[in-house]
Amino acid sequence: VMARLPAIKTLAEFDFSFQPSLDRNRVMALAELKFVDRCETLHFLGPPGTGKSHLSIALGVEAVRAAKSVYFATLADLVGALAKAEHEGTLREKIRFFCRFALLIVDEIGYLPVIPGGGNLFFQLVNARYERGAMILTSNRGVAEWGEVFGDPVVDTALLDRLLHHASFVQIDGASYRLRHHADLVPEH
Ligand code: ADP
Repeated sequence: VMARLPAIKTLAEFDFSFQPSLDRNRVMALAELKFVDRCETLHFLGPPGTGKSHLSIALGVEAVRAAKSVYFATLADLVGALAKAEHEGTLREKIRFFCRFALLIVDEIGYLPVIPGGGNLFFQLVNARYERGAMILTSNRGVAEWGEVFGDPVVDTALLDRLLHHASFVQIDGASYRLRHHADLVPEH
């Protein structure tokens, strides 16, 4: 099966006791991948270091194990690839390529605003995949703030409309795992 994932992270490696706000049973139910078969969108929201990328990759690993094709990219990389294809006159083909994956994981929405025109390119991809493929999106910012990320209010409305329809949300409110050894920075739990 076609798969493009970064360094492999698994559900088995995830320490749920570190993130008490996260419902382990819910994550395990998501790992049954019904959302992929239903072409739904799954959002992981929460501050940096709370395991959003880890969980999205781990669900990607489960999808590969279930013989479903998966593609992982940061929003910046994805938009960069679309912009390059547009420049080269191959945007249609590039969008068709990204539509071939049963699950598209878009990581790190919200850290940086997209490049000019990037919101429109991402919208074209989301629109092409709409109700035809599943997505996992991770963001450190609430969906209400995404207007600033995509920088285009018209595109933003249409984009959000699609990303919030057939969607479910996993909010992680906890400490950064990266800072776990800095006791002074990590709230007690
Ligand atoms: P985010 O995407 O929310 O910024 P990451 O998923 O990149 O966070 O997590 C940062 C690092 O900490 C990664 O190396 C990840 O594997 C690890 N990590 C995060 N949360 C946990 C956890 N609960 N158990 C084990 N490793 C974790």
